[in-house]
Amino acid sequence: MKNQSPLVISFEFYPPKSREGAVNLQQSALALDAMTPDFFSVTFGAGGSTREGTIDIVKTLQEKTRTAVAPHISCIGFNREGLVSVLRQYKSLGVKRIVALRGDLPSGMGSIGEFKYASELVKLIREETGDYFHIEVAAYPEYHPQAKHALSDVLNLKRKIEAGANGAITQYFFNPDAYFYFLEECAREQIFIPIVPGIMPIMHFSKLMRFSETCGAEIPRWLYKRLEAYGDDVESIRQYGIEVVHHLCQRLIVGGAPGLHFYTLNHAELSLQILQQLDINSMRMNEKVYEAIKN
Ligand code: FAD
Repeated sequence: MKNQSPLVISFEFYPPKSREGAVNLQQSALALDAMTPDFFSVTFGAGGSTREGTIDIVKTLQEKTRTAVAPHISCIGFNREGLVSVLRQYKSLGVKRIVALRGDLPSGMGSIGEFKYASELVKLIREETGDYFHIEVAAYPEYHPQAKHALSDVLNLKRKIEAGANGAITQYFFNPDAYFYFLEECAREQIFIPIVPGIMPIMHFSKLMRFSETCGAEIPRWLYKRLEAYGDDVESIRQYGIEVVHHLCQRLIVGGAPGLHFYTLNHAELSLQILQQLDINSMRMNEKVYEAIKN
């Protein structure tokens, strides 16, 4: 199932709310399966709001595709017992990789619970399941919005690694320098796990702006102005978005990023076009080409 390619490619989905959404997700997953990714990941609503939905999608992806599935777990709003029961379920499904997060509790939805930070969740997973799971955690090249200061966020990543994380996936960004400077900061703190950039294909201008505001991802002025200028012309936004994100991915790979994690929003098309333009499969197949690009 796992290929030996040097670049780790993964695609993220979220549990759909409707029957139509479920059909769309299956079609997207089948199209992306053909790219032989290393894994699909499935998000988990904070406080367990999509607990059953996430598990159902994990099962469906396992049945319908050849790709390994890595569910996300967010600990906020949960107690130990609840988290252990989710872990057991994943273990029984043969899941080997987990993305461990804190999550953000929607306003008005219960209390924070026993677990305040993702590092505590990673510790719990190791205490309960030893080395069974490969654990990915979140990292923030432009820093998490609630971080007291930049360095404390880097130290938080270090805390998650000390608790047992094997790798990290970043929040999306459009400025590759943010990622490369972040890697330098990590190296200064002796953080050497693979940190895979999260890639957000550009689908809608206003949605992207809203979401970026919440999660602390910067939309550079040049990108903002250009997307704004397209107005309601969705097709031009997508075409320009493919060009921008393709160029970003190219710079990340040339700069030595260990892989790419696509936030697909359950749509295959944009991620596929970006990967095809990168000619990712020949790149992954051919170690020599990869090394040449890297050096
Ligand atoms: P943490 O690592 O716990 O950090 C949260 C904040 O607390 C940071 O500002 C950190 O600096 C600070 N902090 C941590 N420890 C301490 C401490 N001891 N003292 C003081 N401050 C501290 N959300 C979901 O709900 N479901 C998902 O499936 C999901 N998937 C995601 C996937 C990826 C790849 C990414 C990047 C994010 C995802 N998120 C998801 C969003 C994530 O849950 C939010 O960004 C959340 O606000 C932080 O989660 P975290 O795991 O980074 O938290």
